Amino acid sequence: MWFSLWRQTLDLISAARCRACSGPIEPGVADFCERCQGQLALPEGGLQGDQPLLWCALAPYAGSLRALLLRQRPKVDPALITALGIRLHTCCASTLSGALVVPVPSWKRAGNPLPLLVAQALVAASGGAAELAPALLWRTRPTLGQHHLGRSLRRSNLHKAFAALACRDAAPRPLWLVDDILTTGATACAAAEALATAGHAVQGLLALARTPAPGRHRVPAVI
Ligand SMILES: [Zn+2]
Repeated sequence: MWFSLWRQTLDLISAARCRACSGPIEPGVADFCERCQGQLALPEGGLQGDQPLLWCALAPYAGSLRALLLRQRPKVDPALITALGIRLHTCCASTLSGALVVPVPSWKRAGNPLPLLVAQALVAASGGAAELAPALLWRTRPTLGQHHLGRSLRRSNLHKAFAALACRDAAPRPLWLVDDILTTGATACAAAEALATAGHAVQGLLALARTPAPGRHRVPAVI
């Protein structure tokens, strides 16, 4: 399967249209035009932190990146999300060697498609170094939308909301969760807890964007 994903990645890299504005770009050079690159202002190496779990993100959830991700709500542009996922890979490539990559699942099948798209892009960009494993984690029940809940309500809302397939490896492979946006991290922590309880070696979370919280991230750093 990763071969076809890799093919898609190559097609994407060689496409001559900006993934954000559809304007022309030089083939094989970049996935975003100069203007969009400037507006997105993705920090070199991304952002990393360790609260409330180890994480790596492309950039703060703000400005042009936030606007771009908000535009995905009514209709997702898989090519754009894949391009961002490939960018994310450049920030965390060394951590993905031999790793399992698990997108944070939605309750409904037709839920948020972004985590899976980002996870697929990461695995494709890894050239086979990482393995996509979406079946390891699932939701046990529906939860309330997290957006309007405070931190403690988010935690109780997500208590035992995830379950995971038991790890059968004597030496569990490193496992990275993938989500589109890291906010308080309550969802990521609930998912990580379910996986860890099932014996998996959860390393942390990879996300496109991190809700800015002053003092909570450092730029740049190596994880
Ligand atoms: Zn553009």
